[in-house]
Amino acid sequence: MVMTKLRALACGTAAAAMLGGALPAAAETFITIGTGGQTGVYYVVGQSICRLVNREASKHGIKCTAPSTGGSIANVNAIKSGQMDMGVAQSDVQYNAYEGKGDYEGDKFDKLRCVFAVHPEPYTVVARKDAKVENFDDLKGKRVNVGNPGSGSLTTTEVVLKAKGWTMGDFALASQLKPAEQAAALGDNKVDAIIYTVGHPNGSIQEATATVDANLVNVTGPEIDKLVADNPYYAKATIPGGMYPGTDKDTQTFGVKATFVTSADTPDEVIYEVTKAVFDNFDRFKKLHPAFADLKPEEMIKEGCTAPIHAGAEKYYKEKGMM
Ligand code: GLU
Repeated sequence: MVMTKLRALACGTAAAAMLGGALPAAAETFITIGTGGQTGVYYVVGQSICRLVNREASKHGIKCTAPSTGGSIANVNAIKSGQMDMGVAQSDVQYNAYEGKGDYEGDKFDKLRCVFAVHPEPYTVVARKDAKVENFDDLKGKRVNVGNPGSGSLTTTEVVLKAKGWTMGDFALASQLKPAEQAAALGDNKVDAIIYTVGHPNGSIQEATATVDANLVNVTGPEIDKLVADNPYYAKATIPGGMYPGTDKDTQTFGVKATFVTSADTPDEVIYEVTKAVFDNFDRFKKLHPAFADLKPEEMIKEGCTAPIHAGAEKYYKEKGMM
């Protein structure tokens, strides 16, 4: 929930009048952005947005923080319950929450609003070389870290398993370690493979492939083709060969987009300022993580948002002729 308190200011005439001229004051607004694990990209999305917002705090009075969280589902639920104002969420999670489908069956979040889409997130599987896993189907009977509770990685894994007619029981172990723990688990031979729906390159996969001989795994086949054909938020994705040690060839998979979302209850002025902070400083934003390098503003407001665009963001996009 947006928290506002009065702060003393040298000017601030309207507030001063309200207070009978006693104390010049203006509103200071505190906002929180839900992110993901610290070795992922969501954490950097939130930190980057806050950095740009906080640079202008003396003008608009908005102070932003972006703590680490469990990921997409945790963020959408925190926005829904009013604990957080904004958050990063996979496009499939956004779609399901707004439409009341999948994890949100019978629990539609009508007030969910999109601000913009960010980077693509391929569904990424990394296996120890000694586990001999080339395609997702080779994971049957293996020890797999399927994603932590609250993460989009876990929900997308559940979708993949359902499409294949598998259950978690088809794995010898289905652990739910957090992103920050999974690279070590792979290196220590506690699991054969890890799953992470995440932008590239990122610290977690870098760490995993640097500490143990490991390869990225293709996630392809008729069930994946059908998932992509049937759902607007899925697309085929390629992780370029050579991006991580141990995988020279391109890896074929499918994926979603990271999206930046909020609630219709978040005030228009706040979302307007947050949107402005990102797009007025877009070159600076793009440099804050290599996964942002190819972002294009026009695409960020056209692809990945299925919930309505928040009115405060729309005001900014219209002013700039972006929509
Ligand atoms: N896509 C992941 C999730 O929804 C998070 C990825 C990241 O933190 O960059 O949980």
